[in-house]
Amino acid sequence: MMKPTNALNRLIKALTVLPNVGPKSAQRMAYQLLQNKRDGAEELLNALQQALQTVRHCRLCNTLCEDEVCSVCADPERDPARLMIVHMPVDVASMEAAHCHDGLYFVLMGQISPAQGMDLSHIAVDKLVARLQESAVTEIIIATNFTAEGDATAYVLSELFKDLPYRVTRLARGMPLGGELEYVDAGTLAQAVYERRQMK
Ligand SMILES: [Zn+2]
Repeated sequence: MMKPTNALNRLIKALTVLPNVGPKSAQRMAYQLLQNKRDGAEELLNALQQALQTVRHCRLCNTLCEDEVCSVCADPERDPARLMIVHMPVDVASMEAAHCHDGLYFVLMGQISPAQGMDLSHIAVDKLVARLQESAVTEIIIATNFTAEGDATAYVLSELFKDLPYRVTRLARGMPLGGELEYVDAGTLAQAVYERRQMK
């Protein structure tokens, strides 16, 4: 049997950085890219290189963007009194597609999972606290997933805001159990925002 070369091995190992890609899938991808998708591989290389150079975190909401401040934070029409906290940039996209939140966002870039030993250090909590200090926020809407990790994150955040002068709400549980925002349809998502319940 032919042994993969060092370069091939390195590529296979690098591809396992992608979510849900194990060594077997990575091997298939590597062969595919090198066999008959060489143009695509070149484009992937260039796109990745460009993205690594230009994409960064928004100074205010922590989402990924190409400017110092993202388009939502820079929009003067958004209501600065309501700040919605989500896990990932994809959740902002879901909310924007559902047209159910005209305030601002904060993106945690992660979640808390006591079962996996993931604590406060796995979310951008320092940046969130700093963000709140220079803002006109009166209501914080916790829009974490309805999963064990989303619940744990919501709980830790509500504890964090306990003695602070904000109205704290969380999306209504109109979503399927174990629901991740990103897979919920726009109508259900909008309903969950309109019927959000007060945590404090
Ligand atoms: Zn932003």
